[in-house]
Parts: sequence; C-alpha cells; structure tokens
Amino acid sequence: MASEIDISSYRCDCGYEAHFFPKTIRQMERMSLKKRVSLGEGRHGIVFHRGKAIEMICPQKGTCPIE
Ligand SMILES: [Zn+2]
Repeated sequence: MASEIDISSYRCDCGYEAHFFPKTIRQMERMSLKKRVSLGEGRHGIVFHRGKAIEMICPQKGTCPIE
C-alpha cells in the first residue's frame, strides 16, 4: 500500500518517495475534480481523482492504492 507522507510527498510500496511542490499537488487536486489526471515523477506516477491522490503507479509493483 502506498502512502501519503505529507501534503506533497508520497511513499511507494517499493520504498520510493516522490516529492512535489504543494502548489503542484493543489493544482492536480483541482484538475482531478473533473477527470482523472496523473502526475509523473521519474518512473512513478500519481493518479488523482475527485480532488485527491488515489493511486501510485510503480514500475515494479504496478498500481498501488494510496491510503
Ligand atoms: Zn514503486
């Protein structure tokens, strides 16, 4: 299970941590109210939907829900 470390950082199942600017996350949350959007960080991606981060896409583990 991937997890949110703080407002703009996420930890993947594989141990990878993705850090973003809080401003970027707020923008993605706003955009995700209308449709699913994803944010790339290296080979990892974060999927946002309905105003929050819901999944982390990992090159090793596949799609992990964010708790
Ligand atoms: Zn990962």
